[in-house]
Amino acid sequence: MRIDVLTIFPRLFETIFSWGVISRAIENEIIVFEAVDIRDFTTDRHRTTDDYPFGGGSGLVMKAEPILRAVASRFTEGSRPYTIYPSPQGKVFDNKKALELSKLNHIIFICGRYEGIDERVMKVVDEELSVGDFVLSGGEVPALLMIEAISRFIPGVVGDMESVINDSFFSELLDHPHYTRPREVNGMKVPEVFLSGNHEMIEIQRRMESLRRTIERRPDIFLKHEFDLSDKKALLMLFKELKKDVE
Ligand code: SAM
Repeated sequence: MRIDVLTIFPRLFETIFSWGVISRAIENEIIVFEAVDIRDFTTDRHRTTDDYPFGGGSGLVMKAEPILRAVASRFTEGSRPYTIYPSPQGKVFDNKKALELSKLNHIIFICGRYEGIDERVMKVVDEELSVGDFVLSGGEVPALLMIEAISRFIPGVVGDMESVINDSFFSELLDHPHYTRPREVNGMKVPEVFLSGNHEMIEIQRRMESLRRTIERRPDIFLKHEFDLSDKKALLMLFKELKKDVE
């Protein structure tokens, strides 16, 4: 996948993409990433990317022409990039959207600043996506966040695809708790079942904990969940456990 981020702060991406799974994916050319400086597409001496709003009012607006030129420069023959404008006014980005976007060949993110970007840029925007009901100062952090979530679904980016499948939301339930060595920390022991070597029981226990967490923390997700046989077995155990607690 090719990912281009149009921004007035391209260096923001240098550090974050020098570490972890994304840096490896870039190194191995699974992802071709470029942070494109919108200022390189200005035509004036001061490399101006913003201006006062028509009609008055507070704040500055990002100018349309440099962004439109920057977007056009990303089109290559035969490629039709998908253009995303991170915006608090967009549909809220989630795991499903990340999976859907991971199947594309080329994505462009346009990072806004100030009051946002001149509305005429929307002509080349395929989708506005929000990272939540709050307002940030720029689209760079939302773009980073989305790239991180999208890239986890690109084969080869995360070494063990099974761990991605088992993450929260993928199976429409929250992930179960995880434990690692040592067996005891400050008197707190790892639950016996995880040391038993009984893989069927471990699987049921994990599913039970996933269901318990989802019920407690995200009942909205639980209510939408379609139950398979393992869920039913885990629910039965959870029910027995809760009944024991009451008695
Ligand atoms: N005036 C805009 C509004 O009220 O909708 C907010 C502009 S905000 C200060 C500047 C830029 O940050 C936006 O153009 C957008 O790219 C980005 N941004 C801020 N909050 C965001 C969010 N929740 N999700 C995605 N992008 C966001």
